[in-house]
Amino acid sequence: MEVNPSCPSGEDVVCPRCGKVLRRDYSFCTHCGLRLGRDRGQETPLSPPPSFYYPYSSPHRRVEPMALASLICGLVSFLLIPFFPAIAALVLGIMGRNRIKQYPQYFEGDAYAVVGIILGATNLFAVIVGALLLVVSLVSRSGF
Ligand SMILES: [Zn+2]
Repeated sequence: MEVNPSCPSGEDVVCPRCGKVLRRDYSFCTHCGLRLGRDRGQETPLSPPPSFYYPYSSPHRRVEPMALASLICGLVSFLLIPFFPAIAALVLGIMGRNRIKQYPQYFEGDAYAVVGIILGATNLFAVIVGALLLVVSLVSRSGF
């Protein structure tokens, strides 16, 4: 007597996501990678519904932190301390914009970064022009 090798100790299952027919002893779909719950009763959920980092379905985009920091640094460079916050505003603004472009499904706030970059650049320009004028006036005063 021969035992039928395809005898249904491993009957086939159908992947619930892509519909591919799979051996029952597979724990992942070979086609789409879906985890196949073998004992549905004991299966524990891997994580609560991930509303924050679930790709493409998140309605809650948040302001990119570096874009916001860029805006704040730009304002600080005008209101409190010139120059160094302006450099930070430029760098953070550029990095923030890149990240928003890379992950538009997570982040917003491109306008903050743009304003931060403009404020930072304007402040740097003003500081450099002011420093040049100061140097010129010092040189011309010491000359006489
Ligand atoms: Zn599948």
